Amino acid sequence: MASFMLPPVVSYACSCGLINPITKLYFCRHCLQLRCGFCVCHEVDSHFCSSCLENIPSSEAKLKKNRCNNCFNCPSCQHTLSARATTVVVPKKVDDPEKGDGDDKEKDKVITRKMYYLSCLACRWTTRDVGIPDQTVASGAWPECEYANQTRLNAIMEYYQSVVLQEKQEKQDLWKRKTPKKHKYFSLTDRTGLTVSMIRRQMGWADKAPPKPKAITPSEASEEVDELPESIFTEPVNLKNITTIKQRHSQPADQPETVDNLFPQRKSLWIKRSLRCRQCEHNIIKPEYHPTSIKYRIQLFASYHVPEVRLVKCEQPLKAGVANFVILNFANPTMHDMVVKIIELPSEDEEALLIEEFRRGFEKQTSLTSTPSLTSALSRQTSLNEEPRFVDKRTTAKLEYPNVPFTVNHRDDSAEFDEDTQIQQEEPPFVIWRKSNKVSVKLGFTPDPDLASNDEVVVGFSMQYNYVNTVINTADRSEPQKHTLHARVYVKVGNITSESA
Ligand SMILES: [Zn+2]
Ligand SMILES: [Zn+2]
Ligand SMILES: [Zn+2]
Ligand SMILES: [Zn+2]
Repeated sequence: MASFMLPPVVSYACSCGLINPITKLYFCRHCLQLRCGFCVCHEVDSHFCSSCLENIPSSEAKLKKNRCNNCFNCPSCQHTLSARATTVVVPKKVDDPEKGDGDDKEKDKVITRKMYYLSCLACRWTTRDVGIPDQTVASGAWPECEYANQTRLNAIMEYYQSVVLQEKQEKQDLWKRKTPKKHKYFSLTDRTGLTVSMIRRQMGWADKAPPKPKAITPSEASEEVDELPESIFTEPVNLKNITTIKQRHSQPADQPETVDNLFPQRKSLWIKRSLRCRQCEHNIIKPEYHPTSIKYRIQLFASYHVPEVRLVKCEQPLKAGVANFVILNFANPTMHDMVVKIIELPSEDEEALLIEEFRRGFEKQTSLTSTPSLTSALSRQTSLNEEPRFVDKRTTAKLEYPNVPFTVNHRDDSAEFDEDTQIQQEEPPFVIWRKSNKVSVKLGFTPDPDLASNDEVVVGFSMQYNYVNTVINTADRSEPQKHTLHARVYVKVGNITSESA
């Protein structure tokens, strides 16, 4: 996790060839491959408000423009506003002034009433600052501000929605014509060449075409601009009254210039997202549905399944062409012992084969799942597949591959507290340290002799490890399956030291 925010030192190659740190990779246990963010389909699971944690169905969220009905952001500092209650004294209303037969005491009576306003606990901004009247209920309907261009924007949006609808219909019609349905018997239209729309026209019926989009008056640019107010040249600028860029952008509809036009903004909804492998269409990440839960139903993060490699240190300062040693740490995140072997990276030809395999796997999948209905084909973006490529990271050092396997023990959270009762086992000579599920190895490497000072030294290897797949997806497989998998790992060991140092 230390590498989460920092530039990655150790990166893994995804099956598509993109380089990523392990924290940004997923592991599909159906394809048994690493998957990066581009190799998975991102789907919106649910919408919710981060403040009141209300779950909002996606159709409703669309209607509400992805904003919560009850929660507001401070227009000044973008914190969440909270409702504050005050008591105000109001004169009691006399029900019927006509009937009030001179009882003056009744008229003077006052009552106290609870009123609410919104206040920001971070910057002390309140709705009273901009003259929004207090409301009688805490979750009251706060006045929506009206924007000058609202009707125009609505008209434009309506127009483009109908354009999209029409295009969709046309596409569907074209697709229908291209792939005629095979019926057992000839229909009248097949024999005569008449189409439904032709018959309709002959009968004098209206064609069943989608409504044509209503034309809108296009906007026109004009050179006439309002004059600047006179005061701008005479009065000194008070920066306290001018809004910041952030404040203007948080209120995009009118982008106020002065702070007295800041209005509370409805809070944007958040989403829960699930990820799906693009090749096998299985879920890789699936969060719990409920917004209050931070758990996952399916969580195939690569760091839970693939051994994590960390750079411990280099023995000596890096010099071009001078042999050196690097210490790497391997951690096994799974509940099963792993046998890890460090072998050479695939050659260019082997890499080309891997790319071919990746492409074939995808083509096979699309031919299997190609659905006849257009709508389902559109909703699932299976066609958007990451184009496989050669790994864009060349190693700049020659690593000595030990080619001897070593065991990395399974993860055992209680082992941390145990006395060190490790049985000394026969260790390969390059294993220098071992504790619970971690092993440190010392590998020799030589940076390329043609490297200049400050050049990056990258060592790369293919990590062969055995993986126990506990998911049982077919009936005939009753036991967890063992697989031997490979991951291409690239480690930035450092930069060549400058000669003067
Ligand atoms: Zn990828
Ligand atoms: Zn809310
Ligand atoms: Zn604030
Ligand atoms: Zn998959």
